[in-house]
Amino acid sequence: MSQLHTDMITSSFQNDINSKESVLDRIPTRITKIGENLDIRRALPTNIRRMVGAWCFLDHAGPVQFSPGEGLHVGPHPHIGLQTFTWLIEGEIIHRDSLGYEQIIRPGQVNLMTAGSGIVHSEDSTKDGQALHTVQLWIALPDSQRHCDPAFIHYPDLPVQTIGGFQATILVGTALGMTAPSQVYTPLVGIDFNATIAAQADVDLNPAFEYAALTLRGTAKIANETLVPGTLLYLGQGRQRLNLQCEEAAQILLLGGEPFNEDIILWWNFVARTQLEIETATHHWNNQTYFLPLPNNPAKRLQAPSLQDFHLKPSR
Ligand code: MN
Repeated sequence: MSQLHTDMITSSFQNDINSKESVLDRIPTRITKIGENLDIRRALPTNIRRMVGAWCFLDHAGPVQFSPGEGLHVGPHPHIGLQTFTWLIEGEIIHRDSLGYEQIIRPGQVNLMTAGSGIVHSEDSTKDGQALHTVQLWIALPDSQRHCDPAFIHYPDLPVQTIGGFQATILVGTALGMTAPSQVYTPLVGIDFNATIAAQADVDLNPAFEYAALTLRGTAKIANETLVPGTLLYLGQGRQRLNLQCEEAAQILLLGGEPFNEDIILWWNFVARTQLEIETATHHWNNQTYFLPLPNNPAKRLQAPSLQDFHLKPSR
C-alpha cells in the first residue's frame, strides 16, 4: 500500500473519530413525581436516545427524605429479555423475586437480576420515612441470551479506586485498571464518581464504546459541559478520554458500551424483538399464567397496560 493511500485511510479514520467525538447531546429526562417528594427522572429511553450500548433504561430516583409513613413500594411485576441493575446510594430496599430471593440492598451495593425467559419481583423500602437515592438501569440481553434461565445476584462489594479526588466505584465492566464482578452479556461499562469536595479527573475511555453521563448530585463539568441532575449528556463514540470536574461535592454516573446491534422492542417491563412476544408476555402476566407467583407478596400486583391497537416500533 502506498504511503499516500495509508495517509488517506488514516485521515479519513481520524475525521470519522473526530466527527463522532464532537457528539455532545444534552437530553432532558422525563420527571415523574411519586407521592409528595420523590422525583424519578427517566433518562433512557427518550425520543432522542433509546440506548447507550445495551443500557436501555435508566431511572434516577431521589435523593428524597420520605415523610413518616411514606416509602418506595413497587408491587410484584414481571420482566423478560433484560437484566435489572440497581445501584443504591442512600436508603435500604428489599428485593423479593419468584426464584425465592429476598435481599436487602444497602448504599454502595448492586442488585443484578437477569430476567431472561421471565421473572417476577417486588421492591420495597425496608421501612417508611427513611431517605432514598438510587438508580435503576436495565440492560437488554442479546438474542443469544434473552431466553436464558432467570437469575439473581447481589454484589455487596464493588471495586473502588480514587482518581483526581473522586471515589470511583466500578459498577460494571473494566475501568481504571479494575473489573467489576457484575455478570453481563455484552461489552459494557458503568462507573460512579463521587466527590465530597472539588475534584478533577481525566478518565480513559474505550473508543469503540459509546458513552453517556448523568449527574446524580451537585453540579459537575463533563467534557466542559456543566451538568446538573435532570439532563443526560450523550457523548457518542470514538473518545479516548473524558474530563470530569466539580467545584464542590458532586456525583456522576458514567455509562458506556459497544453499540447494541440488535433492534429491540421495549414495552412496560418487557424487552423483546417482536410485538407478538410482548403481547404474549402481557397476556400471561395479566391472566396469571406462565410467570411464577411471588411467595411473599408484600404489595399489590401491578397490571400490564393493554396494548390494544398500539403498534410497537423496534429501536436500538
Ligand atoms: Mn422491576
